[in-house]
This record gives sequence, structure tokens and C-alpha cells, in this order.
Amino acid sequence: MNLYTALRAGFPADLDSTAIDAEGALYSWRDLERGSAMLANWLDRLALPAGSRVAVHADKSVEGLVLYLAVLRAGHVYLPLNPAYHAAELEHFIADAAPAVVVCAGRNFGWVSKLAFQRGVRWVFTLNDDRSGTLLDRAAQMGDVHMPAERAAGDLAAILYTSGTTGRSKGAMLSHGNLLSNAETLKAYWDWKPDDVLLHALPIFDVHGLFIASHGALLNGSRMLWFNKFDAAAVARRLPEATVFMGVPTLYTRLLHEKQLDCRHMRLFISGSAPLLAETWHDWEARTGHRILERYGMSETLMLTSNPCRAEDGARMPGTVGRPLPGVGLRVVGDDGRACATGEIGGVQVRGPNVFGGYWQMPEKTAEEFTADGWFRTGDVGRLDEAGYLTLIGRSKDLIISGGFNVYPAEVEGFLNELPGVGESAVIGVPHEDFGEAVVAVITARGQPDPDALIAALKAHIAGFKVPKRILVVPELPRNAMGKVQKKLLREQHAAVFA
Ligand code: ATP
Ligand code: MG
Repeated sequence: MNLYTALRAGFPADLDSTAIDAEGALYSWRDLERGSAMLANWLDRLALPAGSRVAVHADKSVEGLVLYLAVLRAGHVYLPLNPAYHAAELEHFIADAAPAVVVCAGRNFGWVSKLAFQRGVRWVFTLNDDRSGTLLDRAAQMGDVHMPAERAAGDLAAILYTSGTTGRSKGAMLSHGNLLSNAETLKAYWDWKPDDVLLHALPIFDVHGLFIASHGALLNGSRMLWFNKFDAAAVARRLPEATVFMGVPTLYTRLLHEKQLDCRHMRLFISGSAPLLAETWHDWEARTGHRILERYGMSETLMLTSNPCRAEDGARMPGTVGRPLPGVGLRVVGDDGRACATGEIGGVQVRGPNVFGGYWQMPEKTAEEFTADGWFRTGDVGRLDEAGYLTLIGRSKDLIISGGFNVYPAEVEGFLNELPGVGESAVIGVPHEDFGEAVVAVITARGQPDPDALIAALKAHIAGFKVPKRILVVPELPRNAMGKVQKKLLREQHAAVFA
């Protein structure tokens, strides 16, 4: 079973119909099939050793997606990298993953190829977002028929480096079986319809845009309205043609600034990768009449939980990430290793056919993150309610211990976000002589926040040890490309507040 073969089986009978509409450039299903065959034939021609990594540090393009399909077909391992990474970052990934092939944007060829050749990479090609580059030139010479390499479910299909939110990025090893089982589960649970049209405006170097969005449309034979970059006005213009949209929370807040959001054919809005504020959820419903479905997943496990799609499966609830997906085992475990009671906070552990095989070249780290009975420790902290919905409270690494008491940042952020003058907030722990760690809030302003008044207001709502000792107002919270707040960076920036 090669994942490509399974995705290909979902293509519609009419291969000449439009698969991807990239702002007017139309690609048929036959284009995807033939284009990926030509690229796979080129990769075969290179006679790479089995299990070779193909690292891709390129701007988003449909050809980039076709290259991913080609790597699957050829039986190699796809390794996408954020094109915003600079030399020092790229050097780490190339040294760590030792790819056989590196594909980069033409404008970066000088420094990327130098770095890659120094590390012993033999093949470096370019791929631009305007259908040019040496990779496509080479593939143009190749035949357009290709038999996908035979692969077992456990064979490696991709290495996805984690976002590096809590420390150095780790390479999560995902197999053909991991990816296919999750794609099939989501096809059923999100109730993909024959005439669905997906608006795809996410990057394709991470799980959300590359796997969850693209696999969904490919497996269902659904047309995609494709954007190489997210531009709120351009996305709003095509919204009336779409039935499914997937975004990180910042995409929703940016779309809310658009004058018109015409959702006449829309069936489903999905959010994930970072917490969606309840306020955004409510604003979105007020503007469009749609309740955003929030789901939760990670590079190591693909999707884990989801709010319901069909009414008979239950209601979509703001502030929760829903129930474990069919086939996914999920438990919340206390520090003593025992399962928590309903409502009790603990570490989230999971297992299932979607859970990765381990971290690339980190056997010890892998062993540490799995329990003796085979559950994966997600590093996220949360609680389950009576209806089985999971609410995430934060990450275990962000947990603050102040004067011996546990403080869950998300709880304090929830109260802060409701107070006048506060836009967004991030609560962190910084070194403190007396308390070990002291609670500090970094907020953005919406109006004129008064830190002293905010602290006084919080004291009326929550226990004193949870109330920030200091509230710092900044123009913007540092976020990565997927909209995740970089708390590690905030802790470094504000390490000396009490020094
Ligand atoms: P690193 O593991 O390198 O520190 P990371 O965990 O941010 O980085 P990813 O695998 O991209 O890297 O992200 C997975 C994490 O994203 C989850 O563990 C969870 O903390 C967070 N996440 C995903 N979806 C949601 C969601 N709906 N609500 C809150 N957090 C989410
Ligand atoms: Mg992580």
C-alpha cells in the first residue's frame, strides 16, 4: 500500500475536470497524476538509496504539492521545511536529516546549495512558485507514466519537524499507514461530500496544510481553490465558491476584518494548530452563522480530537477541542500515573494507528515520550468533561510553579482576556528569588489597559498565587507561522524582570 495509490483512488472518474484552481491557473486531476509521474520518474533516475529523504525548502506552489505526491510514488521520504528558515536553521535540519536531495527556491540557491554540498548532499534543485526551476526542467524530459513503489503500512513516508515551540524541533517519523488511517478517519468524521470545494490558504510545510487539508481534498476527489499566500481580501473574494475552509486562529481573526464574508455554499469551517479564543468563535458565528469546528493534533500524531461535524454526533463547543476521533485512544493522567477523574487536570496521552513511530535519530527521546504500556505523552495538559470533550489547559512545559503552587497559564489568560483594555494575553513564569517562578502576563492593548487595575480585578476572581505580579503591555505577541505564541521566546525576553 503506497499512500499515493490510496489518494489516487479518490480522484474523480473525469480526470480532465479541475482539481486545483490556483487563482486562475487551472490544474486537472490528470495534471496531478502526470506531473507527479514525471517527477517520480526523475527521482527514480537519480537511483537514490532506499529510504532517502527529499528535503523541500520552497515557497508554496501547486508544483510543491505535486512534488510531495511524486516523493510518495517513488517511495522516498518527504521532508518539508519552512521556507522562512535561514542558514543556521537549515544547516541544523540538513545535518540532522542528511537528505539525498534538497529542493529550494531559485533565489536561495547560492547559500542553500553551498550548505547542502558541504554536508554531502549530491542533488540540489530549484523550484519557484511560478512553475520555473531546474527540478521541473529535468522532470519535463521524463515519461508521464509511473508505477508507485510498493510500500508497507509501516514504511516511512515523511519526516515532519515539530514547530520548536517548546525547544529544538524534533523530526517526527510518519508512515504511509499513519497518514492514510488519519486521512480516512477525517474523511468519514468530517463528512466529506461529493461536491465539496476546499479553500486552501495554509502553508504546505506542516501537518495542517500538507496533510489534513490536501489529503482531505485529494482522497475525496474535491476541487481546491488554492492560494500560495494568505491574503484576507483575496480569500474573502473566493469564499462564496467554497464549502470547506481550514485555518489557524489568526486566519479567522484576519478574515473578521473583511467587510464581506459571503458563505452561501459553506458547509464547514475548521480551526486548529493553536487555541481558538471563544470570543473569535462567537464573533464568527455572529458574522457568518457558522460555528467553527475546532480540532487538536500534532506533528507526532496527526489529528487526535475533533468537535462534532454532524448534528447527531453532538454540539460544537467553543474553548474545547472535542472528543477523541474514532480509533484514537486518549486518556488524561495525573502526576502519579493514574487516570484522572472527569474534570480533573492532567497530562494528555494517546495511542492509535495515527501515532508516529518515533523521533528521527532520537531513540532516547522517543523512549522517554512513550509510557511502558505504549501510550504517547503529548506534552499537553487538559481535562475531559462529562460528555468526553477535551479542554486543553496548556503545555506541561509552560506550567508555572510559583511558591510551590501550580499555575496553568491558560486559566489566567482566560480571565485576563475578558478584562477591559486587553487584546490578547500570554502568561509565563520567570525566575524570582522568593517564589522560584513568578507569574507575569504579557498582553496586547485594545484601548488603554491599566496594569494595576487589571491586577486588582484579577485578585477578585482568582487565588492570589495565580495573579500576575507584573503585566507588560507589548504591541504584538511573538507568533510563528502557524500562529502559535512563542512562550519560550517570551520567557527569554522577560527573564530579568525581577532580577
Ligand atoms: P515543539 O514540539 O517543537 O515544541 P509544537 O508542539 O508547537 O512544537 P506542532 O507539532 O506543530 O509543534 O504542534 C502541536 C501542538 O500544537 C500541540 O501539542 C498543541 O499544544 C498545539 N495545538 C494544536 N491544535 C491545538 C488546538 N486546537 N488548541 C490548542 N493547542 C493546539
Ligand atoms: Mg510538540
